[in-house]
Amino acid sequence: MSKTVFLRAMLSAAGIILLTAGSSSAASCGNNAKGFDGFIKAFSKEAAANGIGRGTLSALDGLAYDPSIVKKDRAQNVFAQSFLQFQARMVTDYRIKHGAQLIQKHKSTFARVEKQYGVPAPVIVAFWALETDFGANIGDLPTIPSLATLAWDCRRPEKFRPQLMAALVLIERGDLREDEMRGAWAGEIGQTQFLPYDYNESAVDFDGDGKRDLRGSIPDVLASSANLLRQHGWQPGQPWMQEVRVPRELPWEEADIAIQHPRAQWAEWGVKTAGGKALKADAFQASLLLPMGKDGPAFLVYENFTTAYLKWNESLVYSTTAAYLATRIAGALRVSPGNSEVVPLTYNEVVELQKILAAKGYDVGKFDGKIGKGTRAAVKEMQSQLGLPADSYPTQELLSRLRRR
Ligand code: CA
Repeated sequence: MSKTVFLRAMLSAAGIILLTAGSSSAASCGNNAKGFDGFIKAFSKEAAANGIGRGTLSALDGLAYDPSIVKKDRAQNVFAQSFLQFQARMVTDYRIKHGAQLIQKHKSTFARVEKQYGVPAPVIVAFWALETDFGANIGDLPTIPSLATLAWDCRRPEKFRPQLMAALVLIERGDLREDEMRGAWAGEIGQTQFLPYDYNESAVDFDGDGKRDLRGSIPDVLASSANLLRQHGWQPGQPWMQEVRVPRELPWEEADIAIQHPRAQWAEWGVKTAGGKALKADAFQASLLLPMGKDGPAFLVYENFTTAYLKWNESLVYSTTAAYLATRIAGALRVSPGNSEVVPLTYNEVVELQKILAAKGYDVGKFDGKIGKGTRAAVKEMQSQLGLPADSYPTQELLSRLRRR
């Protein structure tokens, strides 16, 4: 799964300038093969100007536009799963058990990683499980043809052009040979699926063989993943997530990952531990995360979630699942479905809701059927206006009331 991409002007580690917007090849894009060859030619020139050598540039020779990659990229959007559906598929007994076994097996490596980067083993292992089943499914598609196609495609060229350049830098630096540059269809490489840009910025050689190998070296994979989380703001010694029980009544508008309160405040509002005990009434800052609204599962999430997790993957459902799997590997019990059954809106209903909200002037982004940041914020405002509990989660009731207006 793709990581958030930060455009920066320099690939500092390599001392190679990475051009982003405004360069010659960024001027055009296309939704088919027409113009692709010219784009690659211009891109190659740009890469040469950035210091990529002739040997590496041969990776761009004879590339062909691949419509099957574009098709995959478009199809991604049809998915709309609730947290409970997604976690049921992703948080399997095998992953929990095998994850715990791997922590034992690589105990000394994890100890060194935690000492150096401050990220505990279950957090890293959960990503290792979700991304590739502990390295079993790293993908075997050639990275450069995929990235070249996505870099030419008009949907997100600004995201994929720096990735294509970063892939060339990885070859130029000697991290990966061209024939080793294989992975998932959207350019992710290795056991925790780093995009080339993150590979360049955050991978470390932890087994000391002089090579940053995220495909074959487990120490390199574990330390690099921890380093990426650290660079995303992970704070050592801090928790990330804790399941809780919520009462029937609460100032629901406070349940928002953008809002934090001391744990004592949540305790005062009647939030309890998963086991029904009193929360520690201290000053620790936490957000109340209700991935399926007030009736569904409930978590307190801490800064490590709202910074590091959401930078690894901006999808709230993915990040909630990754953080929850980490708690399970660390010994937490199975999540409670909540106070009553939640029937999530279907993909088509979310799209319909997004269109209604957009017609009312809210910026919900694309009508993609995903309950992202913009949709949640608009839902929260509509709930407040209609006098509904403003937990930011769209229900059937909200949709039917909006249809009638
Ligand atoms: Ca290494």
